[in-house]
Amino acid sequence: MTSTADRSRLMGTYADPPVTFVRGRGSELWDLDGRRYLDFLGGLAVTSLGHAHPKVAEAICEQATTLLHVSNLFGTVVGPEVAATLDRLVGDGVPAGGQVFFANSGAEANECAIKLARRWAGPGRTTVVSAWDGFHGRTLATLTATGQPAKQEPFRPLPAGFVQVPYDDVDALESAVVEHQAAAVLIEAIQGEAGVMVPSPEFLPEVARVCREHHALLMVDEVQTGLARTGRWFAFQHGAVRPDVVTMAKALGNGVPIGACWARSAVASAFGPGDHGSTFGGQPLAAAAARATLQVMEEVDAPDLARRRGARLERALARTPGVARVRGSGLLLGAELAVPVAPAATAAALAGGLVVNAPRPDTIRLAPSLLVSEAEIDEAAVILAGALASVLDSGAVPGSGPAPSPRPDGLERETRQAGRGAL
Ligand SMILES: *Cc1c(COP(=O)(O)O)cnc(C)c1O
Repeated sequence: MTSTADRSRLMGTYADPPVTFVRGRGSELWDLDGRRYLDFLGGLAVTSLGHAHPKVAEAICEQATTLLHVSNLFGTVVGPEVAATLDRLVGDGVPAGGQVFFANSGAEANECAIKLARRWAGPGRTTVVSAWDGFHGRTLATLTATGQPAKQEPFRPLPAGFVQVPYDDVDALESAVVEHQAAAVLIEAIQGEAGVMVPSPEFLPEVARVCREHHALLMVDEVQTGLARTGRWFAFQHGAVRPDVVTMAKALGNGVPIGACWARSAVASAFGPGDHGSTFGGQPLAAAAARATLQVMEEVDAPDLARRRGARLERALARTPGVARVRGSGLLLGAELAVPVAPAATAAALAGGLVVNAPRPDTIRLAPSLLVSEAEIDEAAVILAGALASVLDSGAVPGSGPAPSPRPDGLERETRQAGRGAL
């Protein structure tokens, strides 16, 4: 048994955690018992510069002893600077000519986008089209944009004005945009929570065409893919696409909560004073963390690091027995398994000292620090290979969760061989 903290006064929104962490540095974590782990999940694509990055930590400390918060009734200096940097990164190095609203999370960044779309399109045109299996957050509006009926069902009635279509299906999307005279399309460039699902290369450019032709806003949710993770500053930059709105959050503060909604000026100007707001949004502490994070990311050329380290990790995964295919881009990767034992394999990896997760029964997601070393990639690959081998050898079968006891009829052997046959 590993040590845990008393969680009895926490609401039960999360499954019981298998490990309790107390400390991190770079790509390493330590639990309550002092045991070391390699973190290849990065707090769900959040700690892109690793844990306790000295420059981010120093910026947070300095800001904490200078000014934390004064409200948005008054000006501060850090937020506007971060907004200018984000505008330049959205423009891939050249100012994109947009404006930023600061929020505190990905869901809030998307709430801002949804409200902005309604304000921009005016009364009557309110529909936001998004994709099945997408993920946009847990607030009521972003949950409604999230095309996952099981997550929505307990919380009906949901806000009106949301329609979902299959991901990577331009015809379905165009029909929905036309039928509902959509105000906007809200879409991920790669569906992260769905299991690192990568659409065909033409998809996003085609979505942009549909939006242009039918005067709907193209709103790209880059909360998970944004800020260098996929090998470009934003995943939409892999195609020749110019979104009207870009939302981001996860990696922006390297662990300090901050979200942002960028919109090109003609769209952003639909908001006037009083239309939207946030007590904490853009406050100096979170902004200082974001400023330091972006500074380091630019200094190290984080997109290039994501591409190079990502290529090494992808090669290592592709060679791993039990892995049928690797999806994703840069350092947002999904290892698709030949048999759906991802939850058991993830648990075995954790027991072996590697943190990853299973967004789908057949997929292990990896989103390590962009500063991960080659040696750490190689170490993680060895742990993962061992974890997969142990799960497949123990005869874990589809949907089994924790490994079941061996079956006497030899079926597990067939499953195992089928799993390895795909190599
Ligand atoms: C994580 C995520 C969100 C929600 O972000 P929160 O900070 O949890 O509200 C929204 N969109 C995408 C694509 C995400 O991956």
